[in-house]
Amino acid sequence: MGRYVYDFTKGRRDMADLLGGKGANLAEMTRLGLPVPQGFVVTTEACRAFLTSGTEPEGMSREISRHLSAVEAAAGRVLGQPDGPLLLSVRSGARFSMPGMMETVLDIGLNDASVVGLAKSSGNERFAWDSYRRLVQMFGSTVMGVDAELFERAMARLKETRGAPDDLHLDASDLAGLVETYKDLIHDATGDDFPQSPAEQLRRAVLAVFGSWNGERARLYRRREHIADDLGTAVTVQRMVFGNLGPDSGSGVAFTRDPATGRSGLYGDYLSDAQGEDVVAGIRNPVPLAGLERLDPASYQQLREHMRTLENHYRDLCDIEFTIERGKLWMLQTRVGKRTAGAAFAIAAELVDEGLITADEALSRVSGDGLARLMFPRFDTTVTGDPLAHGLPASPGAAVGAAVFDSAEAVRRAAAGEKVVLVRQETTPDDLPGMVAAQAVLTSRGGKTSHAAVVARGMGKVCVCGAEELTVDTGARRFTTRGGTVVEEGTVISVDGSAGAVYPGEAPLVDSAVMRYLETGTCAEQSDEVVDAVARSLQLADRKRRLEVRANADTPEDAARARRFGAQGVGLCRTEHMFLGERRKLVEQMILADDDDTRERALDALLPLQREDFVGILEAMDGLPVTIRLLDPPLHEFLPDRTELAVRIATAEAHGDLPDPHDTELLDAVNRMHEENPMLGLRGVRLGLVVPGLVAMQVRAIAEAVVERRRAGGAPEAEIMVPLVGAVEELRIEREEVERVLAEVSAESGVAVTCPVGTMIELPRAALTAGRIAGQAEFFSFGTNDLTQTTWGFSRDDVEAAFFSAYLDKGVFAASPFETIDREGVGRLVSLAVAEGRAARPDLTIGVCGEHGGDPESVRFFHGAGLDYVSCSPFRIPVARLEAGRAALPETGPSDSR
Ligand code: ADP
Ligand code: MG
Ligand code: MG
Repeated sequence: MGRYVYDFTKGRRDMADLLGGKGANLAEMTRLGLPVPQGFVVTTEACRAFLTSGTEPEGMSREISRHLSAVEAAAGRVLGQPDGPLLLSVRSGARFSMPGMMETVLDIGLNDASVVGLAKSSGNERFAWDSYRRLVQMFGSTVMGVDAELFERAMARLKETRGAPDDLHLDASDLAGLVETYKDLIHDATGDDFPQSPAEQLRRAVLAVFGSWNGERARLYRRREHIADDLGTAVTVQRMVFGNLGPDSGSGVAFTRDPATGRSGLYGDYLSDAQGEDVVAGIRNPVPLAGLERLDPASYQQLREHMRTLENHYRDLCDIEFTIERGKLWMLQTRVGKRTAGAAFAIAAELVDEGLITADEALSRVSGDGLARLMFPRFDTTVTGDPLAHGLPASPGAAVGAAVFDSAEAVRRAAAGEKVVLVRQETTPDDLPGMVAAQAVLTSRGGKTSHAAVVARGMGKVCVCGAEELTVDTGARRFTTRGGTVVEEGTVISVDGSAGAVYPGEAPLVDSAVMRYLETGTCAEQSDEVVDAVARSLQLADRKRRLEVRANADTPEDAARARRFGAQGVGLCRTEHMFLGERRKLVEQMILADDDDTRERALDALLPLQREDFVGILEAMDGLPVTIRLLDPPLHEFLPDRTELAVRIATAEAHGDLPDPHDTELLDAVNRMHEENPMLGLRGVRLGLVVPGLVAMQVRAIAEAVVERRRAGGAPEAEIMVPLVGAVEELRIEREEVERVLAEVSAESGVAVTCPVGTMIELPRAALTAGRIAGQAEFFSFGTNDLTQTTWGFSRDDVEAAFFSAYLDKGVFAASPFETIDREGVGRLVSLAVAEGRAARPDLTIGVCGEHGGDPESVRFFHGAGLDYVSCSPFRIPVARLEAGRAALPETGPSDSR
């Protein structure tokens, strides 16, 4: 066997690295005995050799000739022979399918002589010319690089002069004329002629596939997806079978189950007298697969059997391309098919019930991202009608609002209480205020890493981007759909960020059945297979997982919801909001106090209020740990805005009035406390060390809340967490204060209050000295938001909107490090701190409370790093449970789903 070419009979499904996905699966179908037209695969290794040397690898053409001879011998005809030629298709196929790779060329081997032979041998002149014009068109555009539009326009012109409603109404001589027109087009555009030699056609097509690996779109895609540039693509060369031989022929696509709902059955489309992509290209209307049963019952039955064979073999939903040539069925492609999030759950559960896969495998095939999508309300697609446009589902959810075309208008209308959707070609950092004000963002350009997509995801805002069917005219303040519908500013539209669709008007919403189940713990009366499947996956995940899942919750309501979603405690309770609202006055007094008495009075007034908050949360999480973080942000965040104050004072002075003395006092304080980089300023543990009484008040509120809950018969489990520690000494000093107050409250109340004291690890220095810090900490909780900021030197609010989309485009990282943990950098600090912390204190409890705790990829990392729990926002809890369970499954083989 040669190095560069594999016959279909010599390959297997698991050889996708070498044969590409398409080639490996064709080989697998051949091995299974399904009717696959003969062929061979030129390997990715040949492509790699070509890409390195820039020339055809030594010996490749000899190998191709040898394999071609075998195909010719079996067919009893030679490639392009003038009387009844063998024809070939040349198809690209890499390990991962990617945009920008060369399109398939069909009917290789036809030329001015063999087209006549084909007409004779098939007894169908029209068919022969139709095939020839397809070859010249495809070869001209994909191999020779002529603008495809030119061919399409020539075809449209011809149809118009002939009064032909579709391609079937063009006869042999029309098509023969078209071939001449196409050839002229090629000559005019390239100065070169369409090659008449079949061998040259084949050779150039194969090399063009190799060349397309380095096409601009493919390179951009790989950079964004972090797919290695040196994988290369394979080329599949296969004997043609013909669906365009008349009404007893045709081509189709099929799914072994409904990819939308997961229900089993045969789904797909069939178009008679058609070749290749005609069935999906919308040139004529296909019939649903069931219609094939009437047209050709024998082929239909065979197709059913083959599909059953494939599904049993692949043990998953397969999608299939097939062609019928004069009543004979041929299989042309299969792969594990894409599906909706709901279908993924339903199919996995059903395959378990059918005994095809194990429950573990089912769990490995569903995902937290999919579950998250199922938790959003969605538009009721049974009544929405057709979408105005499709785009990329960049940030999930469903939103309704009036279309507006710039940021200022969005802000203006939103301030007046109107719901708006910001529509732009693309967004830039200048659009930020408008994005904040809008319900959803819709762009006509840009991919999933465009500015709009990145920022919207960061804000949890619905976004559809790259809706290229739309022409957005910002100047005229309207957009136009492909169908010609004009949507003026102010018109209400509905944006589905989960499906990537835009609807006219206010589309009605339906609640998520999955969400209802998660909220109530029960399924709806009438059984819903998706909800049942989600429930089963979550139950299994809970049995498998080693990570506990806690919630980030600051209020009793959030804590209660989190508990319903399965939280095993609160991993982060922030006290900030307890200092806002009506309490702001008290906080102001505390900050402005220039003597101990005033300060103490303010703190005393805050104490009972804080205590009540803690009582509520401890009650909602009774019996489970609640980790309360002491005040973290810099104090000036609780004072009024500096510019606002200055303006107020200046205005008063301009009117000749005396400014409000309180304003002047406040401005003084604000100026005193002003920091150039508040993120790196007086905050966290530093506050506690320099503002007298602040920590004592908070700890007292916690301890008294514990006492109150105990007296009420509860089982409160408060834990006290110190933020932003960088040196063990900071924690030691603060800890002394905490313990002093706990002892005080215990003595006063007669109830022994002990709370574990721990720290956040959110500075590189904390991670680097974790062993020493563990000496003073009973637990660690990684604050991965700040740890990412401080490790990268990124201020999140500044960098995300400004240049993250550019960084993602350039492939600096494949995902924002604020969404998915940066394993190499931040992750390394985490692992180091885990190892040194545990070495110093073996019973150290370790968790994570940054947003990464609810991100599927990151959860896998935290599982591997040996953490005890992840903590995330209540809505992410089911996602984290599922992913923690999946992370605990034994490694499975590579999946075909990509
Ligand atoms: P894609 O990756 O875009 O699906 P394919 O390589 O599958 O491209 O080919 C495009 C179309 O041509 C498909 O409809 C496919 O079924 C059809 N096709 C490919 N090879 C052959 C062949 N040997 N005979 C008939 N049709 C073919
Ligand atoms: Mg295909
Ligand atoms: Mg922090």
